[in-house]
Amino acid sequence: MDKKVHIMAIGAHAGDMDLTCGGILAKYAMEGHRVTLVHMTPGEKGHPILNDEEYAKQKLEEAKEFADKIGAEALMLPYRDGELEDTDEVKFHVCDIIRQYKPDILITHWKNSMHKDHAATYRIVQDAYFYAGIKSFNRDLPEHSVSGLYFAENWEDPYDFKPYVYIDISSAYDKWIEAIKSYEFVSNSPYFKYLEYYSALSVVRGAECRKDKAEAFAVDPLSMKQIFEYFPVK
Ligand SMILES: [Zn+2]
Repeated sequence: MDKKVHIMAIGAHAGDMDLTCGGILAKYAMEGHRVTLVHMTPGEKGHPILNDEEYAKQKLEEAKEFADKIGAEALMLPYRDGELEDTDEVKFHVCDIIRQYKPDILITHWKNSMHKDHAATYRIVQDAYFYAGIKSFNRDLPEHSVSGLYFAENWEDPYDFKPYVYIDISSAYDKWIEAIKSYEFVSNSPYFKYLEYYSALSVVRGAECRKDKAEAFAVDPLSMKQIFEYFPVK
């Protein structure tokens, strides 16, 4: 792809977007595109030994290490794990980030999740995406329209998730896997086999689109409308 674009992935917790669309992010960064990860919270609760403050500090370092390894930038917003609220204040904060960074593509969580922060992030990003593009929402920076909003595949956001857009990540798989090991929980969680799940998922999605490895995304059902003069044929 010749035109350089900017992809922004907004996740509830540091590690969410890194795992669910990290292959795509690595692929774009490898090809010279701009990539920004926005973490709404560090995801600092639930470490088996560290307290929240200690783990937040570690997650901040892990998020930076992941971003550095794939050639991206990471932003950590000042919200708390498990306490993220989808208020207009938070939505306009994210709107301002979108207007400042001017991404072409946004990726975030699917709307239906077992984790309240994930569902809140979906609602925050959906409205921030809308606010960012409308001039009449008067902010310090001018409006910015994002070309596309996609929802990443996450084992915690499974309800009614329908993979629709498949993207080949074969060329970036090794880099992504190396980078994702920056996060302690990915390889050492006592609760879930993150590394095994997401690497296996990339094989499954790859098989479904006849590639070696791929990541799949859902889209808003309204944007699934395809308009042709005739049925397309190969
Ligand atoms: Zn999460």
